[in-house]
Amino acid sequence: MRPGIDPTLYTYWRCQECGVISLQPLDDWSERSRHYTSTYRGYYRREIESSLLQRLSMAYGLQKRLRLVERFVAGGRLVDIGCGGGDFVNWSTDRPYWTVFGLERVPAMAAVAAQVASGVVTLGDALHLPFAENSLDAVLLWTVIEHLDAPLQGIRECLHALRPGGVLLIRTLNSEGWGKHLFGPHWLGFDAPRITTLFSPTTLQLAVERCGADVIHIGAHFHDFYPYLWCINNICRQHWPAGVCDRLDRALASLPVRLLLQPFLMMQTATGKNSFFVLAAHKRL
Ligand SMILES: [Zn+2]
Repeated sequence: MRPGIDPTLYTYWRCQECGVISLQPLDDWSERSRHYTSTYRGYYRREIESSLLQRLSMAYGLQKRLRLVERFVAGGRLVDIGCGGGDFVNWSTDRPYWTVFGLERVPAMAAVAAQVASGVVTLGDALHLPFAENSLDAVLLWTVIEHLDAPLQGIRECLHALRPGGVLLIRTLNSEGWGKHLFGPHWLGFDAPRITTLFSPTTLQLAVERCGADVIHIGAHFHDFYPYLWCINNICRQHWPAGVCDRLDRALASLPVRLLLQPFLMMQTATGKNSFFVLAAHKRL
């Protein structure tokens, strides 16, 4: 559990039948939304990041995400659901072949995103998409599905808006990654009440196929460096003031530490046991 949250209030349960891990109790969005402040780590933005190394790393991640989309669909209308501060929308909005939209359900972040990518960001959530049936070529749920009240309903809503043959790209936490075993209760996936649902590649594939799409790809793609920093920060904050932890965070994010860990991270990515995985699916024709 995250520092500052009473661990006796929440429990993550694994379903005996399907293997999906769910948070109980699941508070209303009005309660949970209070935990999405602009300092939430999931909302870190490239533009206001002070470290050059981190900015470059984030730019690399955005470019990699766009390339990944383009492996499966050449262009068209793309929506980034849960776009946060709009980093990806801003990154991809003036590319040829793409018309990009962003959707964000936290008003403060939607406002930030609207500033960096004006005219294409809407306040709204994955369960009620403001797009017509069959009107999109690609939908991104990038570290979003684990936050939804009803993940399957979210997948169905995305598929409804996608054209047949369009691509749904989901990046989410891996409940079978090494990070969960390594960090136990301090793993970034056990982040109540924000994280409601934890999938593995197997359980998400089952869910997506049940909703009417064909899974065409599953991969790790992004090394676990920042997820691990997040976990270490969680542990640090149990014992030390936030300022000390943030200084440690910056020290660990340095190039030498990164290079030192690189062989381990590459090996982990090769085995697909990262804290996050990416799944791509085609809406059935
Ligand atoms: Zn189940």
